[in-house]
Amino acid sequence: MRWILFFGALIGSSICGREKFFGDQVFRINVRNGDEVSKLRQLVNSDSFKLNVWKSPTTFNRPVDVLVPSVSLLPVKAFLTSHGLEYSVTIEDIQIYHEMDSIAADFPDLASRVKIGHSFENRTMYVLKFSTGGGKQRPAIWLNAGIHSREWISQATAIWTARKVMSPGISPDFWQAWGAPAVSHVLGPKGRGGKIVTDYQKDPALTSILQKMDIFLLPVANPDGYVYTQTHNRLWRKTRSLNPGSRCFGTDPNRNWDANFAGEGTSNNPCSEIYHGPHANSEVEVKSVVDFIQEHGHFKGFIDLHSYSQLLMYPYAYTVKKAPDAAELVSDVLLPRVSLSLRHCQDPASGSSVDWAYDNGIKYAFTFELRDTGHFGFLLPAKQIIPTAEETWLGLKVIMEHVRDNLY
Ligand SMILES: [Zn+2]
Repeated sequence: MRWILFFGALIGSSICGREKFFGDQVFRINVRNGDEVSKLRQLVNSDSFKLNVWKSPTTFNRPVDVLVPSVSLLPVKAFLTSHGLEYSVTIEDIQIYHEMDSIAADFPDLASRVKIGHSFENRTMYVLKFSTGGGKQRPAIWLNAGIHSREWISQATAIWTARKVMSPGISPDFWQAWGAPAVSHVLGPKGRGGKIVTDYQKDPALTSILQKMDIFLLPVANPDGYVYTQTHNRLWRKTRSLNPGSRCFGTDPNRNWDANFAGEGTSNNPCSEIYHGPHANSEVEVKSVVDFIQEHGHFKGFIDLHSYSQLLMYPYAYTVKKAPDAAELVSDVLLPRVSLSLRHCQDPASGSSVDWAYDNGIKYAFTFELRDTGHFGFLLPAKQIIPTAEETWLGLKVIMEHVRDNLY
């Protein structure tokens, strides 16, 4: 892959976000008799846990769903265990799902939430669709984020892009002190605003893009890995699928696409960070996106957000050969309009999303590597999140405008 552009200045260096985060979760609690119902009532009526009951106990053997705030997770688990109440966690890291839901609810004419499948651990995968075209099938752009779960700036930038927090008076230090993961920094407790939803009809470029095309945004392309980075290992990169015969979990979901599968820059060792998986599309998270895009049939752009390096890359990654459209991708689209320095190098990677997109007829295919260049690496401080999202948005807009003007 050609690494062409070096974008964004490295701003400052301050606090390092090595916090762990336990997001709000939904518990499904089983009640089997009157005694258990009264224990459960005691729990949900207690002021100290601040629970939100989604589904109340009606009859025995019907489970009860309760939203448990992150600060109450440990005491609630202790209560349930000590009283012998059976429970399971049905939705982890509810916040990002809630946010997608509320964007769709707040801007029903522009945004909707589309279910595209499930992860290996059965988390629903949603994509946000931004469209002004009613039911019509229009040309579309795919924005992909979080395929490598530890690259939190990617999921955060995606959510900011959909909806950014501009709550006055909230400083980056607040986000940092809050001790939440990157996405939470962007959402905030009263997150409102947003790039696509707020700038539509204010920013002429975005407005005209949305008059011709739909934008699909997948903020968490690897939901199991993302939860795992919050609960077990901040630096987890892969999916969480089982590898029969191996003690190691997961496949690199950006080596699993059907583009020179298992070629250079991959590993056949399930313990490797770049394990390609047993076959192309073996990861249900990848297959869900592939199926959706192929069934849609009108995608003209595909952009995958990663970190870190501050580079913009174009196909191919699996060969040193440049894509046939390289001249257009580089010279016409970006270089004249975005003032960035240029860099070339080779870093082969087979089975990547963007190469798959390009080889399947999506000409405008790019990988962004967001901040930084390695000082903080994956543990980017919270105060760099908004500047990163802002500079990324400029690049995304340039590409989307070019697609708009060069539909094929
Ligand atoms: Zn990555």
